[in-house]
Amino acid sequence: MKIVRLILGDQLNQNHSWFSTVNNDITYVMAEMRQETDYVKHHVQKVVAFFLAMRNFKEDLSTKGHRFIYYKLNDKKNPQKLEQIILKTIQGINADKFEYQLPDEFRLDQQLEQICSSLNIATGSHDTEHFYTTRFELKDFYKGKKQMVMESFYRMMRKKHDIMVQNSQPEGGKWNYDQSNRNKWKGQPPIPKEKEFVKNVDEIIKLLKNANVQTIGEIDSESFAWPVTREECLTTLDYFCNQLLPHFGDYQDAMHTDKKFLFHSRLSFAMNAKILSPKEVIDAVLNQFYDKITDINISQVEGFIRQILGWREYMRGIYWKEMPEYKKLNTLNNTNKLPDFFWTGNTKMNCLKKAIGQSLDASYAHHIQRLMVIGNFALLTQIDPDEVDNWYLGVYIDAIEWVEITNTRGMSQFADGGIVATKPYVSSANYINKMSNYCGNCHYSHTKKIGDKACPFNSLYWNFLSEKREHFKENQRMNMMMALLNKMESNKLAEIQERATFIINNLDEF
Ligand code: FAD
Ligand code: SF4
Repeated sequence: MKIVRLILGDQLNQNHSWFSTVNNDITYVMAEMRQETDYVKHHVQKVVAFFLAMRNFKEDLSTKGHRFIYYKLNDKKNPQKLEQIILKTIQGINADKFEYQLPDEFRLDQQLEQICSSLNIATGSHDTEHFYTTRFELKDFYKGKKQMVMESFYRMMRKKHDIMVQNSQPEGGKWNYDQSNRNKWKGQPPIPKEKEFVKNVDEIIKLLKNANVQTIGEIDSESFAWPVTREECLTTLDYFCNQLLPHFGDYQDAMHTDKKFLFHSRLSFAMNAKILSPKEVIDAVLNQFYDKITDINISQVEGFIRQILGWREYMRGIYWKEMPEYKKLNTLNNTNKLPDFFWTGNTKMNCLKKAIGQSLDASYAHHIQRLMVIGNFALLTQIDPDEVDNWYLGVYIDAIEWVEITNTRGMSQFADGGIVATKPYVSSANYINKMSNYCGNCHYSHTKKIGDKACPFNSLYWNFLSEKREHFKENQRMNMMMALLNKMESNKLAEIQERATFIINNLDEF
């Protein structure tokens, strides 16, 4: 029986059971497609990373004897659309069956179901063998429960997969060391330089230019350094375990003008493209911890594992539980447009200049920059969540809808009304100053609320709470902030709101 098997650009799992034996009756098809380069305007480094990773994957598996058809973007025979690519491959080898791995994106899932229903040969779908959970495991777990707090899911996952658990109790006595993970980085301990894998990507950049693919951000065609091959990703994991993990948890929330990556792993692209599995990442971290190769405190290890076993699997489960309605949610009725400086980094607000500038330069910002600087500002200025989603989905190297939208629309913009986060992640300058050195060199003063030099976050924060107070009146976690708001003298609040309104109406002047 001749079979065509489709592999999407984020399904680069070399350890998938599909590849355990070589079978000449199976043809694998992969394609660089306009459908995928154009569904949102991506960062140029993101497109380059995916194309490079796909090409390397194909090379590795072809070398092992698997039969591949691979369409480059500029291949004259490339039909560019998924349906035509599948049909052409089926006809080309006169296939009896078409198979695919379940996509992680709703739009591709729908498209593949529709394509299969129109084919007149047998079809079949397979698990990607990547995640710890199945698509609907989270939905089943929360069935009948009022709230979907991540912590309960995370504890279930620790027990189920026997990760840092002894006799059903957490190793070290605590499930969660989040409180210990809140240090500002003040120059010590030294941060090891990130692992780089410099390569020339001129050919792909020319290909994108000639095809007139619209992208955002910057790239140095001679020194693209992200890990994209299996070997490079494994080296990055090893480097993380040896060099960065010992301080990961301590400085997880810290931000610094001169340090883009701090002690973060930079493994999100490797995992989201499925070059590395979450299990092999967690196993490597646990080995490092238990083998006592380096002296690592339990809070660093737990802090890291929570992100992958907890948050990453949780976001995937929420996505499949809530889509497609999730994509339209805008509970706070925010409708403003993103300011132009999201595409230039050209603002006097130092925290945003650095976090956005870094996103445009490197296609990367770490969690707290995405949440408490950029996302915080977008929420306080009441930007339409569609606009915010499009920006995040385009700009980051690791942005794929299932993990982008749940983090952005859910965790960061509270547009889902509290499905993911129990309260909105908003703050004044106080938090940013506590966790970074941004405010020290800023045009604005982090202590002032009004006046030309006052930090915009300060008036925007109180204005947001005041304008959205109806939405939060039942939310107990907001009680303290709302009580402070209610105590504020009305003329002082009016002054703050006047400044906030001016800022919102003139965002690109700030
Ligand atoms: P590390 O800090 O080293 O963390 C290790 C790993 O944990 C990450 O590689 C990632 O796989 C996982 N992880 C950590 N936090 C989360 C989270 N909240 N949700 C899911 N996985 C998590 N992550 C993406 O992979 N793609 C996105 O498009 C994305 N968009 C985001 C948008 C917003 C507004 C926010 C607040 C967060 C977003 N995240 C996203 C989560 C997180 O910011 C990134 O996973 C992380 O910054 C990637 O860098 P790292 O690999 O160095 O992570
Ligand atoms: Fe950002 Fe305000 Fe601090 Fe400036 S003062 S860096 S705008 S938080």
